[in-house]
Amino acid sequence: MIKKKHMMDLAAFGGKPEFNKPLSVGQFNSPDKEIFRAAFDDIFDRKYYTNHGKLAQQFESELEDYLGVKHAISITNGTLALIIAAKALGIKGKVITPSFTSVATYQSLYWADIEIVFCDVDPLTHMITPELVEPLIDDEVVAILAVQLWGEVCDIDGLQALAHKHNLTLYFDSCHAFGSSHENKFIGNFGALEVFSFHETKILNTVEGGAICTNDDKIAGIIRNIRSSYGAGHFVDVPFTGNGRFSEAQAAFGLMSFKNLKENISRNKKHHLLYEKYLSGINGLKLIKANLGNGNFQYIIIEIHKDQFGLSKEQLRKILHEENILVQRHFYPEAHKIVFFNPLIKEKTSHYPVTEMLNNSIIQLPSGSNVDEDKIERICEVIKFLHDNANHIEKELSI
Ligand SMILES: *Cc1c(COP(=O)(O)O)cnc(C)c1O
Repeated sequence: MIKKKHMMDLAAFGGKPEFNKPLSVGQFNSPDKEIFRAAFDDIFDRKYYTNHGKLAQQFESELEDYLGVKHAISITNGTLALIIAAKALGIKGKVITPSFTSVATYQSLYWADIEIVFCDVDPLTHMITPELVEPLIDDEVVAILAVQLWGEVCDIDGLQALAHKHNLTLYFDSCHAFGSSHENKFIGNFGALEVFSFHETKILNTVEGGAICTNDDKIAGIIRNIRSSYGAGHFVDVPFTGNGRFSEAQAAFGLMSFKNLKENISRNKKHHLLYEKYLSGINGLKLIKANLGNGNFQYIIIEIHKDQFGLSKEQLRKILHEENILVQRHFYPEAHKIVFFNPLIKEKTSHYPVTEMLNNSIIQLPSGSNVDEDKIERICEVIKFLHDNANHIEKELSI
């Protein structure tokens, strides 16, 4: 193991990077190349490349079986799935959604001409809670778009009870949470519908892709007709349509990724426990612990608090980058700041203390097939070294 002994050993100050090649946060849990080639031969032989083909149908039916959900509707990507979801639910009014989330979450509302009401999040789970949502409900609020973050689940029962009490539609951006569960039911079964992403950084990977899951036949019919510009087989008159079709290539990749899902979740779990072991006892660094019962362990998330850690999140990110440890900040750009310029947002958002704190402290560390125990230990050693030498390092840094 390479050990950094002196500040000058850091790549940021001219030393040799800890890793020769960039270690990315993206999981790239890709299937075997040869298997993919065979699947492609089949697509070419059949000359059927899209339009809800054999593989797309098989992928949907495997999703439905696995999740135990009535309808899994594959869609080109998660962002488009969120937009179609908002349109399919016929939302006309304000929607409450977290201020700490992916740009895709609230942009889907913006695309659907919906007024956004941001809700700050809980400092422990980083997700919205019924207690935070309730004071924001007024006569114009018609729905809650909750987000399941970091492969964990939010207070689904509490939010459902609140939605029921105020007659609101509750639906979920569950793009992080494929394979996670709540009370022995897989995520995908809750609220009016749930949206998944199968982007390559997610646990189930179709390169680009997504799906909407629902147990409601009517909503499913509407979604299929929007998704396929009425070409879904079963006509439902919808006021507009689009193209959110899922190609055979995406489905082929997804079916192979599905086969590795269990193995990928158990590797993720192992990695989580290793990070917990190697990062314990560092002041100012808080690893978001996975709830061992029901998550998919896909996200290794740490909060960096400068007053105790010695360096800011951005300083740490920059130094790790030089070491070829590519960490991801979340969420960038920051929701309540960019939409400040958005004429649809009436509420001039200024007070989201927990979101601000998280935007300034959170990074995601590498996991998935890119790393093993040795690499995780080395990443953690570098982080420890930076903490131990933070005073000296900060003096020399230009940021
Ligand atoms: C990835 C992601 C999305 C968007 O999904 P894409 O497939 O990349 O369009 C939306 N919300 C969250 C929370 C995500 O992580």
